[in-house]
Amino acid sequence: MVVHHLVKKAGVSCETYFNVTTLDVAESNQMAKRNGFKHIYPDPQHGGFYKYVHDSGIIPTRFARFCCTYFKEKPTVDYFPADDKLLFLFGIRNEESSQRSNYDDVTKNPMWGDRDWISVLPIRKWTELDIWLYILSEGIEVNPKYKYGYTRVGCGIACPYYTKYTWVLDKFWYPYLYNRWRDILKQDFIEKNKWLIMNCTIDEYIMKAWTGGVYRKEPTDEVVQEYAKYTGLDEDVAKKYFNRYCENGCLNTRGQPLKLKDKNILAMNMKMFGRDIQKFKCKKCLIKEFGWSKEQWDQQVQSFKEQGCKLF
Ligand SMILES: [Zn+2]
Repeated sequence: MVVHHLVKKAGVSCETYFNVTTLDVAESNQMAKRNGFKHIYPDPQHGGFYKYVHDSGIIPTRFARFCCTYFKEKPTVDYFPADDKLLFLFGIRNEESSQRSNYDDVTKNPMWGDRDWISVLPIRKWTELDIWLYILSEGIEVNPKYKYGYTRVGCGIACPYYTKYTWVLDKFWYPYLYNRWRDILKQDFIEKNKWLIMNCTIDEYIMKAWTGGVYRKEPTDEVVQEYAKYTGLDEDVAKKYFNRYCENGCLNTRGQPLKLKDKNILAMNMKMFGRDIQKFKCKKCLIKEFGWSKEQWDQQVQSFKEQGCKLF
């Protein structure tokens, strides 16, 4: 809004665009509309954020995030003709984050390739106080979200970078969106048996852990009990699914011992060698040992499931 105002004040002829992230609240969308911002929409083939998460099964975390590329950078690249000469003015400021602190006056997004596009950051050195004083003195419209107590108003609810105090505000101001996201997180946790990956309960996941990283090294009794409840396994059997590594010393892509997190693989070990086993093997090692193809593996898993084996 400040850059938009500065540009108009300078009498520069240009247009203002709003990247529709589909995660912005109504207040932000309406404000963009009121101010005559043109909308740039994400690829309709994949739709909005919730459809994307549903179709891809990917939950954005602090370590892996598709949102900026998918909702902002790529639609912008697709929107403008590649052979146009373009100058972008962004409101990004250096003090906003450690990554942004390195930005200079003139930058070029690597995604633009060899297009004749450049971006300029006219207010990059402005402090937050400068921004607010300018907004107040010039009578610039303020996004209502700031008045609700938020310090940032960009795509909310499902962004793993928001601090947890923001979630208190979300729950208060946007209970429908807040619950919708947590229902998705819960469903994803159960479907993917994330007890075995995160060593946490559903509540710990949706209230804290979903933003990234393994929550704790060993599961608590509560985690095992909840996993047993959801899978219908006895607690002592359920416990065996946690923190297992391939006994043949297989390594993951980072060269660390290969942790077995897939319920079917853990189940296959116990189905074939008995529930009392202490040592487990990875899928690759099991397939080799049994002389199966990957298709035969899938058929075996399917048939054990159909027989009603609770291990799977
Ligand atoms: Zn192995």
